[in-house]
This record gives sequence, structure tokens and C-alpha cells, in this order.
Amino acid sequence: MSVEIAGDLLDGRLSIGGGRRAALSGEVSADVNPSTGEPFAEVAASGPADVEAAVAVAHRAHTEGVWRNLPVLERQRILGQVATRLRERTIELARLVARESGMPLSAARFIEIPMAADAFDFFAAAGTLVHGRTLPFSLQGATTRYMTWTQKQPVGVAGLITPWNFPLLMPAWKVAACLAAGAVAVLKPAPETPLVALALADAAREAGLPEGVLSVLPGGDTVGAALVRHPQVAKIALTGSTETGRIVAAAAAEGLKRVSLELGGKSPNIVFADANLDDAVSGALFGIFFNSGQVCQAGSRILVQRPLYDRFVEAVAERAGDLVVGEAEDAMTDLGPLVSAAQFERVSGYVGRAVDLGGRTVLGGRGERSRGGYFFSPTVFRDVDPGSDIAQEEIFGPVAAIIPFDSDEEAVRIANGTMYGLAAAVWTQDLRRALRVSQELEAGTVWLNAYQVLTPTAPFGGFKHSGYGRDLGVEGVDAFLETKTVIADLNDQPMQYF
Ligand code: NAD
Repeated sequence: MSVEIAGDLLDGRLSIGGGRRAALSGEVSADVNPSTGEPFAEVAASGPADVEAAVAVAHRAHTEGVWRNLPVLERQRILGQVATRLRERTIELARLVARESGMPLSAARFIEIPMAADAFDFFAAAGTLVHGRTLPFSLQGATTRYMTWTQKQPVGVAGLITPWNFPLLMPAWKVAACLAAGAVAVLKPAPETPLVALALADAAREAGLPEGVLSVLPGGDTVGAALVRHPQVAKIALTGSTETGRIVAAAAAEGLKRVSLELGGKSPNIVFADANLDDAVSGALFGIFFNSGQVCQAGSRILVQRPLYDRFVEAVAERAGDLVVGEAEDAMTDLGPLVSAAQFERVSGYVGRAVDLGGRTVLGGRGERSRGGYFFSPTVFRDVDPGSDIAQEEIFGPVAAIIPFDSDEEAVRIANGTMYGLAAAVWTQDLRRALRVSQELEAGTVWLNAYQVLTPTAPFGGFKHSGYGRDLGVEGVDAFLETKTVIADLNDQPMQYF
């Protein structure tokens, strides 16, 4: 039985500059609970006219300086207040995340919401540290005459486009970084998870964010595309699939917009024979089954050195077999449903094709639609060919591909042998080996004897086709800043060239 969600969190009207209203077309779309397959709310379906209105409001806010010219400590206080608002409503928001995305309630409550609040706290502080540099001037005969410095300025209107797998955290990373830079935001959340993003806009308004600084437009890909094309949008920050990244980068190139892309992954989790078996198995399970594998940095390829291989495969299959697949809001659930029918078809397709081609499953391999939701049980393939589809392509489901290897060199070659480069992990008790291998891995984040853990203080992003630019860290703020060089003539006599 599902618990009521607070009425204001079910308000699906779009948020323009802080105020709520229907889409100009009057259209709505259904928000579906992936645990039941049933709609539970109606959400405004934004269109091009709404994009026009939101960008106009944002552009005015930027031009008038209502945010960028606010004292930086006032901006810090407001961003900190957003964190407080999110924390105050942790349980209600966690329930909404579970209802809308299928993330288990415990993960939403103890990971998703606290990490989103932490992102606001971090960026509240990071925004106060934005600074330029004073530089020596060098020109024949005029070295002491000029003073030179750089200063950082907000980029202007930023279009933020986010996915559904972390429906509050992904918007929080981008919105908080953008606002810390003094820039203004129009957020287009994933069509599967609009209500959580709208709740973030409400929290920001309640925290005192000035009007016009943040708008949230629920809608599909065409709304994102309209935002990318809009001439007054200076910067696009997308988290999504690599395929979408290519389309967005090409469209943004037309307007020479600044772009950062956080895209897909096929991250290798490398287990050496000298690893602690229990720890490595725990890390592998968390790496691939957390949020049913719908995690960009999921450890979807598990590379295991041969002397440990059979014992490892057996232990993973045994422990994964005990995980509970169920409704997201059930406290016993380890793996909630996949987010949508489309995602269910995608995962089923990959697994079915791999089995047809002779793939060896040691666990799972099936979806289950009988309860209405999009449930898929933990699935483990062994002896996977590193060149096969399930070892090369992002499935975005609870599907582990276990691959054997012999030497360190072979592990690195297999690990780097995909188009992606988001994350990687190394399990070993040999410190030198851990450090040596970590140097060779083509990945934006490398964990040593750990998986999934992130901190807002450290940059996060990908190598290769996992994208460019970074979320989080001071780099996250930098993504929304321009650098201006200022050169001042200190001499009372003007320079006379002619
Ligand atoms: P998606 O690429 O389908 O959609 C992401 C967002 O882009 C959505 O809001 C969508 O409406 C929008 N979009 C789609 N086409 C667009 C277009 N042509 N123009 C503008 N906007 C467009 O991804 P998804 O299915 O929502 O999310 C899953 C993907 O996100 C996975 O590939 C996953 O790896 C990736 N992801 C990456 C990270 C990271 O930090 N690297 C984090 C989470 C998810």
C-alpha cells in the first residue's frame, strides 16, 4: 500500500522564474509509477512557447543582475538554505523519488536526498571562492605602466538537461554549480521524473532565490532541443546518454555555445587475485546492482584474475541471488523496478540477444511484468567476450558481465577497450599494483578497493565518449564562468601611438 505524498509535491505545473503555471499549450502528460506501471500524477507538457518564456525571464534576470550582483555571502546563504529545505523534507522527497523513478526508498532517503543537499552546501561555499589572478604585464618598454588581471564572470543563461536515474541529485549538481557561479538556469529534467525537479525549484524559491533565476520545464527531448537552439542560452550542461550527447553537441555547435557533457559508461571493476574476496564481491554487487544498475558509473564489466575467477563468480551469484527485487517504496527492497517500459524492453533485449548468442548466465536473465511494474532480476553473465555487445554497450540495468584475465597488462587493455571512460575500480591488497594500474586506466574517476563513492568536493566526469567538462568540485563552478582579462593603464600621460 502506498503512502500519500504531500499535495505540493504533486503539483505538476511548470516553474518559470519561481512561479507555477500550466504549459501555454495547456497540454499535460502522465507521471507513471514504475513499481505499478500506473500513472499517479499529471505534469505540464512544456512546449517551445514555454522555452521562449523561461529563457526570456532568465535573460532579464541575468541582464538586471538580480543574482550575479547580490553580495556573494548572501548568495551563499540562499544556496545553504536550499540544502536545509531539502534536508527538512528528506522523507517526503525520498518517497517522491521512489514513486517517480523506482529508486528504493532507502537509497533515496540515505543517498539521493542527502547528497543533493550536500551539493548545495558545497557549492554555496565554492561560490565564495571564485576569483581571478593578477598577472605580470609584458610589452617592450611598458612593463610597469599597465596592471593586468583576470576576473571570472557568470556565463549568462544556462540550459541544464538531466536524466531520470538520480532525479534530484543530477539537477542539484548542475543547478547548485550554475548558481554558485552567479549564472541563471533553465532546467529541463527527464520526462520520467519531472516532479522531483519541480520540488527543487520550490525549495529554491522558499530559500529566497530571486525571481527569474531558476526555471524548470518538464517535457520531452524536443523541449531540450529547443533550449539547446535558443540564441539567448549561452551554455548547455547535459547529463544523459552518449547518443544524446552527440546530438546536443552538434546542435550547440551551431550557436557556438559552451557545452559540458556527462554521458554514459561501461566501467570496469578489476579484481586481482590478491584482493580480499569478500570486499571485492561486496564492491562488485554495489557497483552493478545499486539502483538496479541504472547508474552512469555502474561497474557493469567485472574483470577477474583467473586464480580467483571461479570462487568470485560463485560468490557473486550466490549473494546477488539473495537480493530482494520489489516495489521501490517497500522497505525490504534492494532492487526497485527499472524506470519505464522502454528501459525494461532495452534491458530485456540486451539480455535476450546475449543468451541467444550462447552467453552463459549464472543468475537471472529475466524480467517480470506480472505485477505491473518493470522488474528485472539481478543478472550475471560469466566468461563474457570483451568485444561482445554486453561488454561494450551501456545496458543501464542490473546486468553484470564477468570477464576473466591473466596479467595486469591484459586487465588494463580490456578495461580501456571500450569507447567509454567514466569510471573504473581496482581491487588488490598490493598498493604498488593499485597505483600502477590506476595510472593506466582511461577513466575520469578511479576507485581503489571501493566503488560508487563520490564527494561533492571532487570533480566528476568522463574521458573519451563519456563526455567532457566536469560536474562537482571547483571545476563544476568553472563550467559556468567566463574569464575576462582587464588591462589598466596606470600612467597619467595617455599612450600616443599616432
Ligand atoms: P537520455 O540521453 O535519453 O536523456 C537525458 C536528457 O536529455 C533528458 O532530459 C532528455 O529529455 C534530454 N534529451 C534527449 N534528447 C535530446 C535532444 N536531442 N536535445 C536536447 N535534450 C535531449 O538519457 P536518460 O535515458 O534520461 O538517462 C540515462 C543516460 O544518462 C545513461 O546513458 C547514463 O549513463 C547517463 N548518465 C550519465 C551520468 C554522468 O554523470 N556521466 C549520470 C547519470 C546518467
